[in-house]
Amino acid sequence: MHHLFSQLTETHSLQQLLIQLFNHTDEGVMISDNNGVILSVNPAFSQITGYAYDEAIGQRINMLKSDHHDRSFYADLWHELSRQDHWQGKIWNRRKNGEVYLQKSHISVIRDQSGNISHYISQFHDMTELKRHSDHVHQLAYYDALTGLINRSMIAEKVAATVNHCKRSGNSFALILLDLDRFKLINDTQGHDYGDQILKELSQRLLSCVDNDLDSVARLGGDEFLLLIQSIQNVDAIARFAHQLQQVIAKPYLFENKRFDISASLGIAMFPNDGVDGRVLMKRADMAMYAAKSEGRNKVSFFVSELNEQTQRRMQIELDLRHALRDQQFSLHYQPKIDLETQKISGVEALIRWQHPDKGMISPVEFISIAEETDLIIPIGTWAMEEACRQAAQWQREFGFCLPIAVNVSPVQLNKSDVVGMVQSMLQKYNLKPSCIQIELTESTVMQNPSEVVAIIKDLQHMGVDVAIDDFGTGYSSLAQLRQFPVNVMKIDRAFVQNMTDDIHDEAIARTIVQLGQSLSMNLVAEGIETEEQADMLGSMDCHHGQGFWFAKPMNQEDLKTWLIDHYKNINK
Ligand code: C2E
Ligand code: MG
Ligand code: MG
Repeated sequence: MHHLFSQLTETHSLQQLLIQLFNHTDEGVMISDNNGVILSVNPAFSQITGYAYDEAIGQRINMLKSDHHDRSFYADLWHELSRQDHWQGKIWNRRKNGEVYLQKSHISVIRDQSGNISHYISQFHDMTELKRHSDHVHQLAYYDALTGLINRSMIAEKVAATVNHCKRSGNSFALILLDLDRFKLINDTQGHDYGDQILKELSQRLLSCVDNDLDSVARLGGDEFLLLIQSIQNVDAIARFAHQLQQVIAKPYLFENKRFDISASLGIAMFPNDGVDGRVLMKRADMAMYAAKSEGRNKVSFFVSELNEQTQRRMQIELDLRHALRDQQFSLHYQPKIDLETQKISGVEALIRWQHPDKGMISPVEFISIAEETDLIIPIGTWAMEEACRQAAQWQREFGFCLPIAVNVSPVQLNKSDVVGMVQSMLQKYNLKPSCIQIELTESTVMQNPSEVVAIIKDLQHMGVDVAIDDFGTGYSSLAQLRQFPVNVMKIDRAFVQNMTDDIHDEAIARTIVQLGQSLSMNLVAEGIETEEQADMLGSMDCHHGQGFWFAKPMNQEDLKTWLIDHYKNINK
């Protein structure tokens, strides 16, 4: 270097050369005095910052300051400068047009002969382009070009980091693997551009469902997506979230005047229950997704370890229940109630049946409690009431008289919905007399919340709808409480009927309940009569009505009609 200069100085003075360098280098140069007042800048300075020479001179060097660094950053910078006479690093500064940019700076301190600071020289270049370039490389490596979502490598890193984080914090998280059903069909029939549009739209929808601070959505490739969900901690809530996702995915896709509906199969694995290793969890979410696929389209499946198969079934039922109403999988069966004296039919009880597409008939004993926990019993109960009213109106037309239908109503409906209003509007809609419908409330329902329930029962009776206390004897009503309830029908639980003919204690209890009902002027129905002996014994106790397999099992409406015709033939013989 020295050598070069000494050669050149034969024709040019060193000062001239330095001025050339100052004027033509790409590096911005700014010279200030010891107070930070700018004395000189070069053209590259103006190029980078947007400030012309005249605009810069006389200003203080902090004219470029952005808000990107806190006070301690500058304190450290000045501290290092004063100690070492130079500082090198990256600073976010602000251009004249307000744009913030990253510059790599080298600041040197110039001292006079007595060692006092006389000048600062700052040299810098703009790193924005470089950064843009490396961002682009980063983008290619970690993001999906089509949808802008993160890709498989990035989500794998995030899962690993989340595992570590959750091991320390004790939190849990879920992985939801989502695979579109029959997406290939769209690509094949509509072309790839159309398929791409759907994938983009879907990505936006998925992003809108998650908490962007905590959750991540990645496209693994093709029509496969992975969601990392930390914002939801419990399994039930994840099941609900998965259902929400299904709904969001199911909204129609409209492009180029065409409409498409798609569905997805979802597999869920949870940390730490289903695994404590990122790769294992991703594998298990994948296995769960395949299980969902094999159940048919539009299904959600949790990873099943043998341990929690019981909970799995519950959760699966909860998920499937949400579709059951829409897909018309419910029906009502009707079980006759018989007048024990005349053998005539006095009414029927409506009992709900769920025909599950894969699991077959699921008993109300299994699903009603789940429907209650999730409040799904409210729409399901409304459906049952409407269906019963529709049926009652139809029978009215066919038979010329009304065959009363008793409908079971859950405590959740009583607590959280307007049962009275619902019944009233159904009666109106089907133009039915209130005596065509009866309502059954279990004894425990009535006991749970006596004062509110009493008010509802009164409203119903005011309307002319009879209310029965169901499964009587299994709750703990005292005689005093029983008197407060304005119910007019008491259904004796089948537990007392069952052993009545073998066990004198059960017989005594049954007799006492019958007498209790009589003394309160209630209409009595014995449930679960399975033998002629039981029917006879109850008849001799003056229990008014009986219901049970001995007379008839619950039947669909067609079978009931056939049964009715046979029954009347028999009793008229
Ligand atoms: P429940 O209201 O006490 O209904 C009587 C249950 O006893 C019915 O069971 C019926 O099939 C059964 N049963 C009738 N006769 C006999 C018999 O002789 N022997 C035996 N062992 N059982 C008999 P199901 O249909 O399985 O219903 C079970 C429970 O589910 C019902 O008990 C009721 O509490 C509830 N449920 C049914 N449908 C509905 C509904 O639409 N809404 C609500 N909230 N609950 C319902
Ligand atoms: Mg009942
Ligand atoms: Mg009952």
